[in-house]
Amino acid sequence: MPLIAMTGTPGTGKTSAAEYLRQRGYEIIDLNAFIADNGLLGEEDAERDTREVDIESMRTLFSKRSKLSAIVEGHLSHFLGCDIVVVFRCHPDVLAERLRARGYLESKVRENVQAEILDVILCEADGSKARVFEIDTTKLTPKETAERMEEIIKGKGNHQVPGSTDWSGETDRWF
Ligand code: ADP
Ligand code: MN
Repeated sequence: MPLIAMTGTPGTGKTSAAEYLRQRGYEIIDLNAFIADNGLLGEEDAERDTREVDIESMRTLFSKRSKLSAIVEGHLSHFLGCDIVVVFRCHPDVLAERLRARGYLESKVRENVQAEILDVILCEADGSKARVFEIDTTKLTPKETAERMEEIIKGKGNHQVPGSTDWSGETDRWF
C-alpha cells in the first residue's frame, strides 16, 4: 500500500471517517498527535487561536519512520510527500455549523470557511507529486465518507476526481 493522506479544512470530517476506517481494521496515523508528540507545535498565535507548525521539521521527522505505507489523517498531511492525497470538502454553510458546534470562535469559523471557499488545501495538494482525489462530505455521513475513502484505497476511486466542488458562489457572504 502506498502512503495516503486524508486532508481537508478542519471540520470536513477527516477524524470521523478515520475512526470508521480504524474499526474496519485500517491503521491510521493521527498527524495532529504525531505533531504534538514530537514537539513540532510552535508559537501560539493568540489572535488566530492557533499554533504554527514547522512543516519542514514535520516532513523530515515523518520520513524517518520505518513504514513507508500508511494512511495519515490531518489537515497538514498533504505536505508529507504522499503518493495519494484525498482532499475532504464541505459546503461553507455546513462547515460553519460543524465548526460552531465544536465551539470555534466566529473569527476562526470564518477563517476556515474562507480557506474552504478558496480551495486552499486542494491548491496546496496540486503542487505535490501526488495523485489527488476529492470527497465532498456535505451530504455524507462519516460512515459513507469512510466508504468513499475505502474505494480510493482499493483503487476504485477514479470518479472521486478534484473539481466536483465549487463554493465560489458563496464568496460574497464570507469575505
Ligand atoms: P476534521 O477531523 O476534518 O476536523 P471531524 O471528523 O472532527 O473533522 O468532524 C468535525 C465535526 O463535524 C464533528 O463534530 C463531527 O461529528 C462532524 N462531522 C464529521 N463528519 C461529518 C459528516 N459526514 N456529516 C455530518 N457531520 C460530520
Ligand atoms: Mn481532525
